Amino acid sequence: METVSWATLARSTPGFSGAELANVINEAALMAARRDAEAITQADLEEARDKVRFGRERRSLAMSDEQKKLTAYHEAGHAMLNLALEHTDPLHKVSIIPRGPALGVTMMLPIEDRYGYGKKKVLDDLCVAMGGRVAEEMFLGDISSGASGDIKMATWYAKKMVCEWGMSGRMGMIEYGDHEDYVFLGRDIGRSRGYSEKTAREIDEEVHQIVNGAHERAKKILEENRAKVELIASALLEYETLDGAQVEEIVKHGRMMNPPPKGLSAPSTPTPSESLPVNRPIEKVKDKGGILPGLEGAPAGA
Ligand code: ZN
Repeated sequence: METVSWATLARSTPGFSGAELANVINEAALMAARRDAEAITQADLEEARDKVRFGRERRSLAMSDEQKKLTAYHEAGHAMLNLALEHTDPLHKVSIIPRGPALGVTMMLPIEDRYGYGKKKVLDDLCVAMGGRVAEEMFLGDISSGASGDIKMATWYAKKMVCEWGMSGRMGMIEYGDHEDYVFLGRDIGRSRGYSEKTAREIDEEVHQIVNGAHERAKKILEENRAKVELIASALLEYETLDGAQVEEIVKHGRMMNPPPKGLSAPSTPTPSESLPVNRPIEKVKDKGGILPGLEGAPAGA
């Protein structure tokens, strides 16, 4: 009898509330019941987790081949950078099956509970976030709105680094102003912010520089690994979902030792009326101040 790994589930649900965790177990039980199975499997739990976190799979969504390709390269870019960089969390899975508002997803799993971030990790995560857009541009010569979640996340981190975390050498160990207002409402809201217009400009420049630096770094690494990105993208187009180990095999050996069985993942019944947690991962960042959001793909219908 198959056993489930609670450790894996726990690692892949950081920031979930008790109610959300209960929801995951409920959903998994429903999936098992629909199959007339006697027990919940690991696959049920992972599908339930993804459904609660990102929304239901939308296999019925009509995607053009071009859109699929764009999503495959976008996610392959994220995945390649995740594997190439030292301080990232291990890759869990990459998928180009539309889910909730996203057309694809690259998921990483932290190894242990995290209560803060090192600068090296934040910079590597920023670089991974740039990978989707960079790969679209590099391989398809076009860019999509699919990077909006990545851009939001990268901006949020860069501002935190400069304004709160003292991670910018230029701006020093100073907390700059009412950061919530600064980040979410803009500076011209009329509140006093405790620093000059000149400092505000310097903060902007520094935030730009951090994000641009991550972008350049992503470009360089993906250029150096062009062939590998191509292999990941074509495997995604063929299999739609790959686990972290399979992507690692492609990068290390140029092929998968254990490719996923084709057409075995059961499509879930689409219910279009279901409400979807739009931008959920980003909200998590705002609320908990330090949980890395998933790297979403393109929001569908955007
Ligand atoms: Zn992305």
